Amino acid sequence: MRIAVVGGGISGLVAAYRLRRSLGPHADITVIERSDRLGGILYTGELAGGPLDLGAEAFVGRRPEVPELLRELGLGSQLVTPAGLRPLVWSEATAHPMPEGTLMGIPASAESMRGLVDAETLARIEAESSSALAWQPGADIDVYSLVADRFGAQVARRSVDPLLGGVYAGSSRSIGVRAALPTLAAALDAGAPSLTHAVAAAMPPPSNAPVFGGIRDGYRVLLEALSARSGAKFVTASAATRLDRDSNGWVVDPVGAVDAVVLATPAPVTAALLHTIAPAAARPASEIELSSSVVVALALPRDTALPVNSGILVATGEPLRAKAFTLSSRKWTHLSERENASVRISFGKFGDDSTLAWSDADLISAAAEDLATVTGATIEPLDALVRRWPGGLAQYGPGHTTRVAEIESAVADFAGLAVAGAYLHGVGVPACVASGTAAAHRIADSVGHLGGG
Ligand SMILES: Cc1cc2nc3c(=O)[nH]c(=O)nc-3n(C[C@H](O)[C@H](O)[C@H](O)COP(=O)(O)OP(=O)(O)OC[C@H]3O[C@@H](n4cnc5c(N)ncnc54)[C@H](O)[C@@H]3O)c2cc1C
Repeated sequence: MRIAVVGGGISGLVAAYRLRRSLGPHADITVIERSDRLGGILYTGELAGGPLDLGAEAFVGRRPEVPELLRELGLGSQLVTPAGLRPLVWSEATAHPMPEGTLMGIPASAESMRGLVDAETLARIEAESSSALAWQPGADIDVYSLVADRFGAQVARRSVDPLLGGVYAGSSRSIGVRAALPTLAAALDAGAPSLTHAVAAAMPPPSNAPVFGGIRDGYRVLLEALSARSGAKFVTASAATRLDRDSNGWVVDPVGAVDAVVLATPAPVTAALLHTIAPAAARPASEIELSSSVVVALALPRDTALPVNSGILVATGEPLRAKAFTLSSRKWTHLSERENASVRISFGKFGDDSTLAWSDADLISAAAEDLATVTGATIEPLDALVRRWPGGLAQYGPGHTTRVAEIESAVADFAGLAVAGAYLHGVGVPACVASGTAAAHRIADSVGHLGGG
């Protein structure tokens, strides 16, 4: 059995590893990766006296996929949890505590917004439940239209946007309700009489489990373990340029004939590869847009007067260039023990790729200046790393869940073909792990059916 996995990000590496587990030592698994390194959006650099992630730096700790995978790979001791500090929101040139008791920044009561929005907006939130909400079951709209209409634009710009900016490098205007907030869409579909009621019904059950987890020595350790344990051949610095069928299976340029293929590439690449053979999948995949970001990591003297918070997220409309600051050495206990403090500063939002073109020097000085503005501290970087992520995050716009259903249903018509990746069922690493796992199971089932493994 010969299997090609196209794309060596976390989705593709998990698929390769799971295929090895399912198909045994004799399966011939090749990972084709366009860049000269594996990991995609996961990248661990060296700063402030140790490894530091410059792509994803955490994962949702309430999902089981990453902790289970780490334990399975013998890396359970690498699991870390944050120190438990709260983030701040920078709005109207002031740092506010991040509101608590919200659903992705959407409040279930006016109280949680006090201090962040004006009195008129507070009154509007209080009155919201008494005016009927018109919602067509199954409908989808952008989050801004729903939240601004019911609670006012300040709630969308100051409370929701900072969080959606963190997850999708997007905003409430570029993200749809149904894909980003499925429990809210379900509550609305079920007939919630107001947004206040819908948010209350959609809140996750209370839990004492830490919201996030991380990896002590960075995502690098997970990537290395997956690569090694997959026993795959890695063809790096080599893009897959064509996917076709032949009488026995598939042909993928540049590796040639294979029995099965996993496409673990970003949506536009997947669309291009499927264009001829599966246009019904390619069309919706081509409609999924991407947004770009840049991450600057600064090493700072240990005594830099950073606030005792996990980070600072920026409201829409603030005159800053950065959109978020992760106070890494405050957020994570294992990083606080290092010789220097470390901070990650993120730039870039959907529709504005301009920071990708800035020089490293300009990015580092913008990062330091904006960090000084939001913390009031004197920022004197000892060292810095810059990483650009062009097209790094899929935008889950209105209609996303329909597009994904169309892609998966069209792909299901082909034996020996599976798709995986961050554009399908969640951009976070846990969702990518789940998607690589599902793709591998689909392929293992179909090649098993062909008599392999
Ligand atoms: C700045 C940033 C911070 C983030 N922070 C977090 C976080 O803290 N927690 C979290 O859970 N998630 C986070 N995410 C999201 C998460 O990191 C990504 O969604 C996830 O890593 C994507 O994995 P993937 O394998 O699906 O895609 P990718 O990592 O994009 O991998 C796809 C791979 O396909 C390759 N490729 C493309 N075209 C071809 C081709 N033609 N042939 C061969 N290979 C090709 C690419 O080079 C790439 O390596 C963050 C994302 C960004 C951008």
